[in-house]
Amino acid sequence: MSGERPGLPIPPGLLVPGPAPLHAEVVRAMARPLFNYRGPRMKGLMDRIRDRTCRFFGVSRPPLLLAGSGTGAIEAALVNTLSPGDRVLGLSGGVFADRFLAIARAHGLDAGSLRTPWGQPADPDRFEAALRSRPDTRAVLLTHSETSTGVLHPLPELIASARRAGSALVLVDAVSSLGAVPVPIEDCDVVFTASHKAWGLPPAMAIAFVSDRAEEAGRVARLPRFYWDFTRYREAHERGSVPFTPELPILFAMEVGLGLLLEEGRERVFRRHAETAASVRAGLRAAGLTLVAADRFASPTVTAAWLPDGIAWPDLSRRLDTEHGVSLGGGLGRLAGKIFRVGHLGWTSPAQVAPALNAIRESLAALAARDD
Ligand SMILES: *Cc1c(COP(=O)(O)O)cnc(C)c1O
Repeated sequence: MSGERPGLPIPPGLLVPGPAPLHAEVVRAMARPLFNYRGPRMKGLMDRIRDRTCRFFGVSRPPLLLAGSGTGAIEAALVNTLSPGDRVLGLSGGVFADRFLAIARAHGLDAGSLRTPWGQPADPDRFEAALRSRPDTRAVLLTHSETSTGVLHPLPELIASARRAGSALVLVDAVSSLGAVPVPIEDCDVVFTASHKAWGLPPAMAIAFVSDRAEEAGRVARLPRFYWDFTRYREAHERGSVPFTPELPILFAMEVGLGLLLEEGRERVFRRHAETAASVRAGLRAAGLTLVAADRFASPTVTAAWLPDGIAWPDLSRRLDTEHGVSLGGGLGRLAGKIFRVGHLGWTSPAQVAPALNAIRESLAALAARDD
């Protein structure tokens, strides 16, 4: 299997919703020799990453780079802005919205949620009404692309609802959208992602854009924090450094990966994801499958399909892997064993996913024939 350009992406059959396959130049960057991150070479690297990130996303405030996975970023967003007992309102309807709430509760926050059926987008009017009926809500917890169902929640509308209903901070899990889908970064108070999703980098670096307002909230927020303390990262980044030992190979990969993204251009990157999602959806439907999320709120980075009757996920997964070198995601939470998920993010393209779609069609037919 090959991508549109030579060496793109590696390995081409890795179609899980993170980690995404890597660009050959990103793979090469990771093999660079390490250096002393307290020495003279660090500032240049950090400056180039900061400049490329700000240029690609069109923002003036650089993000914080935290050594951790996406889940670490969720925890960081909460502990840097809130105090024990604070009221928050989240979404539901998927594993990642539920995880946001679970982490909030683990930290002693008073977390309510908007009831949303799995596979459906959150309704901004109902969200606004729920927020108005919970006075003194300090933060809203929004998941943009719900990776467990393939639903893209209407983020700009949900943010507008939150702003109309009061002064709650807007914390956004954009782990499987930022970099592939337009995200109104500067309308969020904290919006975060992780290196191994749409940015097409190795795991596990968390990337968080933090507003002035969130920083102000941080000055009075009393949840305990040390490793995740945004202030330490901000101050170190301002000196072109990091507070703790960084994941240097990911930083090398990031410098190169952001360069490639800039060359391609943000709008083209977004279009490539939209076109890839459309190919995946058409290909799965052509294989006779029913998709979990309707087209009008489908995520451009992950597509979930119902498993046909009589096809067990472990059998499909094993056949795809051994016969075709293709890896897909299984169902998570209450959808485990009922759906499977195709990740199409990072250095993905219609050409990358075409062989996997053929493999899915072949494998479903072979398994169905075996069962007859
Ligand atoms: C992948 C993902 C996470 C969790 O990221 P990890 O890196 O696995 O900790 C959180 N939220 C969303 C929306 C995701 O897609």
